[in-house]
Amino acid sequence: SSRASAVLGALDIPTTLTELPGVYDGDWKGSGEVFQSICPTTGEVLANVKSASPAELHGALERTREAYVYLRSVPAPRRGEIIRQIREALAAKREELGALVSLEMGKIRSEGVGEVQEFVDICDYAVGLSRIMNGRVINSERPGHTILEVPNPLGVLGVLSAFNFPVAVYGWNLSISMAAGNATIWKPSPSTPLCSIAVTKIVSSVLEKNGIPGAVAGLVTGGKDVGEALVQSREVDMISFTGSENVGRVVGKNVQSRFGKVLLELGGNNAAIVMPDADLSLAVPAVFFGSVGTAGQRCTSTRRLYLHRSIAPEFLSRLQKLYASLKPGDPLDPSTLLGPLHTPVALDIYNGAITELKAAGADILAGGGRYDGLPSPLNQGNFVRPTIAIPKSGTSSALWATERFAPVLYVAEFDELEQAIAWNNAVPQGLSSSLWTRDMRNVGRWIGPTGSDAGIVNVNVGTSGAEIGAAFGGNKASRPTSIFSTGWGRESGGDAWKQYVRWSACTINFSDEAPLAQGVNFTP
Ligand code: NAD
Repeated sequence: SSRASAVLGALDIPTTLTELPGVYDGDWKGSGEVFQSICPTTGEVLANVKSASPAELHGALERTREAYVYLRSVPAPRRGEIIRQIREALAAKREELGALVSLEMGKIRSEGVGEVQEFVDICDYAVGLSRIMNGRVINSERPGHTILEVPNPLGVLGVLSAFNFPVAVYGWNLSISMAAGNATIWKPSPSTPLCSIAVTKIVSSVLEKNGIPGAVAGLVTGGKDVGEALVQSREVDMISFTGSENVGRVVGKNVQSRFGKVLLELGGNNAAIVMPDADLSLAVPAVFFGSVGTAGQRCTSTRRLYLHRSIAPEFLSRLQKLYASLKPGDPLDPSTLLGPLHTPVALDIYNGAITELKAAGADILAGGGRYDGLPSPLNQGNFVRPTIAIPKSGTSSALWATERFAPVLYVAEFDELEQAIAWNNAVPQGLSSSLWTRDMRNVGRWIGPTGSDAGIVNVNVGTSGAEIGAAFGGNKASRPTSIFSTGWGRESGGDAWKQYVRWSACTINFSDEAPLAQGVNFTP
């Protein structure tokens, strides 16, 4: 369609080729299985992309290793300068790339552009980082000795990413990894190959201009097979996986079984809690955005809503009004707030959640099915009605404990904050959480030892829409502890960079004696 051609043309993605090469390791290639990029709004095929064959993956890994050997000796601030140029190149295509995210993933344009902005922001962060990735100097118990903790480049980073953030998650990883001196190889979601091709073209043009090997930022599109091969390869020193709990469980075990390093960012099942003193004029729109934004397909989407009994009727009637105002539309149209779900698989997840709620006798306050009679071509898209439901089963039932990656919000009423916090913490996942109150005593309880056990603990800020400055990630099933982690085991900001390096403790003896630690005597 002309709608699609305009978006693709602006990024120099050829629309005349029958098959696009989906592998980049310094050169573009691809002779593996063909994956279709399908527009979730109209159902049209945007492109056929040729993924990595096993031989191409093998070759790409070899070139990635060589690229690492090159990059590790480039001074970190010089690497930062390359990242600065990547930032500029991305910013120059912010609108165009944002539109492609909308076209291919289905999120609304403003969120698509926001996602590119997130990559730009993390580049800024990584540029600064390239001058301050510091170790420590530690006092030795032995005279004339010094102990250093030294970060060095780690090697090859494999990034496996999910469909819902087809640009930003790679950005978090690439920028920090490059600052740290690693080469990165990316296997994106098989349903968003065009976003990964467009990003790789932008990044590689900067590398080329600077005479840096393209395999510093390689791309291998493909499905489960390519993902599994990366996970199993000893050429990949660390895997950064962002995706579902079920796949993450397998990936985590497989990487650890070869003693690789693994960073997992998995599903969320995020709750918002609204206290009687909350400012509802802020809380209602925030819950609306949290549950409906990206059509409920953010890892941090609000899925559970716990309302204090005294404000519940008013809160729900205001929220229902906002839900009723929603109109599904083309996510490229700036006035659209509700785009489609990403794939027919996502539709199944939505339908499954609705069936499960109805079987459990839940009250459906909004939504509860697909839209009928949408005009063409939207009638070919994956549009669903965002749903609010009050399940009849207790708040500890399986229904509350599972992430349903669709716009379905479960509601329950509570009497005491303790009860709401217990419900917040009662699920296996622990990604994001949000409390709405103006009473600082509630804030203290929420962020303290008896408060939320999630990785993101917000106050008067919704569950979704994090900035890049703080470390991003969850606890419990959202980020199973890795025994090889340093720091929090997080992506993006904070001290996340400490994952992306190889740490060593170096004890240096400047003296003329060679004493043993702990006073051990071993004189022959
Ligand atoms: P997914 O788990 O199906 O796929 C993620 C990636 O893993 C894809 O690239 C996929 O091709 C690959 N993959 C699939 N099977 C594999 C295997 N056996 N070995 C190696 N790789 C394999 O996830 P999805 O459906 O694309 O994304 C949605 C999920 O991602 C949700 O659960 C969401 O909460 C989560 N998510 C989490 C975060 C976070 O930061 N915590 C961010 C975005 C999305």
